Amino acid sequence: MLAESDLRELVAFTTGNDPVLSVYLNTEPSSGNSDVCKLRLRNMLKTINLPEDVSAIERYVNLEYNWSGHSLAIFSSTPRKFFRVYSLALPVREAYHVGDRPSIQPLVDLFDNYGGYGVALVDKQGARLFYFHIGELREQEAVEGDAVKHTKAGGASSLTGRRGGVAGQKNTEDEIIERNMREAAETAIRFFEEKRVRRIVLGGTEDNVALFRAMLPKAWQSLVIGSFAAASNAGQSEILQRTLQIGLEAEKFKESGLVNTLLTRAAKKEGAVIGLEETLQAINARRVQSLMLAEDFRTSGYRCDSCGWLTSKPQQTCSECQGQIFKYPDVVELAISEVMHNGGQVEITHAHKEFSNAGSIGAMLRY
Ligand SMILES: [Zn+2]
Repeated sequence: MLAESDLRELVAFTTGNDPVLSVYLNTEPSSGNSDVCKLRLRNMLKTINLPEDVSAIERYVNLEYNWSGHSLAIFSSTPRKFFRVYSLALPVREAYHVGDRPSIQPLVDLFDNYGGYGVALVDKQGARLFYFHIGELREQEAVEGDAVKHTKAGGASSLTGRRGGVAGQKNTEDEIIERNMREAAETAIRFFEEKRVRRIVLGGTEDNVALFRAMLPKAWQSLVIGSFAAASNAGQSEILQRTLQIGLEAEKFKESGLVNTLLTRAAKKEGAVIGLEETLQAINARRVQSLMLAEDFRTSGYRCDSCGWLTSKPQQTCSECQGQIFKYPDVVELAISEVMHNGGQVEITHAHKEFSNAGSIGAMLRY
C-alpha cells in the first residue's frame, strides 16, 4: 500500500553523502515463484557495493514478505536508518538505483495512471461506491434508498417532466428514483471528497448513469472520465478491471493532448521547452510547472553536488556556484525529484512518437 504521503516522504528524503538503494521487484506469480524472484533479486543486487542495504533487503524478501502483492518497492539507507517497503498490487518495471535520493519514477508512473479512482455503480435504488488506488480496493460503501415499485402514475415518464411534483403524486416511481439518485449522489460526493479521488468512473445502465451524472455538481462531473455497463451486483475484480481500462484510455487521451500542447508551445517558445538541456535549465531556474517525459527515457548527465544545478553537458565546475560537477548515470531521475521538490508535477507519457523524436523530455513553464 502506497499513499500520497508516502510518495511525499520519498520525494523529501535526501541522504547528503550517504547512498540510498532503491529496488523494484516483481513478485506476481506470472514472474516466477518465490524462489525465482529471490534469485532475480540476488542477481540484481550482486554488483551493488552496499552490503548492509543489500542484506536488509534480502532479509525482508526472504523472511518477512508475505508474497501477497504483485511487486515491491524497497528503499534502504542504512547509515540514515531509513528502510521503507511498499507492497504494490500492480507489476512494475524491475530496476535498482543507487543515489542520494530514492528513485521514484516508477511510483510516480503508478500514481499517474492508477492512483485515486472513485467508482459509483448506480441503479435506481442506490449506488455502490468504490475507492481504488494503484490496483487495489481501498474502501467501499453502499447507499440504498427506497425500493422502486412499479406504480402506475400515468403521464410523464421522464424525471424532468415530473419536476415541480403535482400534489398527491409524491411517491410515483420516478420520484422515488429521483430521491434515491439524489441521495446516492450526495453520498458519493462525500465519499469521493474524503478519499480525494482524482477521477471518477460510473457504472450501470446508460439511463441510470446519465441520471446520476446529472445529479453531480459541475466540478464533480468534470472528474468523470468514462462509464461502463455493468449489473449492480458486479464483482469487485470486474469493476476494477473495467475502471482501469477506462482510466488507461483516458490517461492516453490526456497525455496526447498535453504532449501536443507542449510541442506547439515549445515550437512558438510560449511557456514551454522541449529537449534535455533546455528542460534541465528550466528546472535549474525553478520554472517548471509540469515536467513531461517518456516512460522509457533514461540518460546520463551532470550535477553540481553543492547547489543541485543540472546539465547534460560535461563540465568541471558549476556555472552557478563553481562547485564540483559529477556525472550521474540517470539524470532523468534527478530531474524528476528536483521538480517534485519544487512543487511541480510530473507527467509520464507512453508511446508518443513525435514526443520521442523531439527528445522524450520537456516542460510546461510557470511563467
Ligand atoms: Zn553549483
